[in-house]
Amino acid sequence: MTFKSTRNGFLIAISVIGLLHTFFGISLGWLLLPSTICLALIIYGSAVIQSNFHAQAYCYANVSEKEIALSFDDGPNREYTPQVLSTLAQFNAPATFFVTGKNIEGNENILKQMDAEGHSIGNHSYTHSFYVDFKSLQGFKNELDRTTESVFKVIGKRMKLFRPPYGVTTPNLVKASNSLNYSIIGWTIRSFDTTADTSQTITRRIQTQLKPGAIILFHDTSDKTVQVLKQTLNFAKENGYKIVSIEQLLKIDAYE
Ligand SMILES: [Zn+2]
Repeated sequence: MTFKSTRNGFLIAISVIGLLHTFFGISLGWLLLPSTICLALIIYGSAVIQSNFHAQAYCYANVSEKEIALSFDDGPNREYTPQVLSTLAQFNAPATFFVTGKNIEGNENILKQMDAEGHSIGNHSYTHSFYVDFKSLQGFKNELDRTTESVFKVIGKRMKLFRPPYGVTTPNLVKASNSLNYSIIGWTIRSFDTTADTSQTITRRIQTQLKPGAIILFHDTSDKTVQVLKQTLNFAKENGYKIVSIEQLLKIDAYE
């Protein structure tokens, strides 16, 4: 099910209803049915990145080894990103940080540390605005360009991984991302680490869903995530999982 097939199905359905109305006099009220189904599919497809409704997003990898990847969105955060980095260092685990462009100024040293310690950095838009999904094609390109340029100024590398804010994909976002050659990265396991759940609940949620090839979504924006990360890394170690970078898991490039 994709945006195109939904649109085509909708066009066929309204044409058939139009013909039935013309020749057999059925009520045009029947138009409500395909309209409602089409709208519901578009909302679902835009909100659920795993549906690949608008875009082919990488959400997991088919792997033969017990390999998983970690990702952190919405940083850099002056208080919590350094704590995440030191936990990752203790476990010798790489990660990908999908940074929000507006958070970079003043936190350049954190980006340098991520890069120096072997982590990769991805694009998570510039503003992460609640209204970002209503942007025009050019508006999206600006969101991507501004963040990539900000990161380039600090580490001298141009990012190629993009995680859409809120995991929402729209036709304009996908067009902008494709025209600038980004790989759209989703996730397999959403930790929900920004909710009110306790670190134990969040950790258990991750553990029950963990499987080879999984990409876990965290946010480097709270102390709770640091606790969850420690517990998750211990669990992964005890169960023979190896932490690899997203680009290694998916066999793609993080930078141009
Ligand atoms: Zn985000």
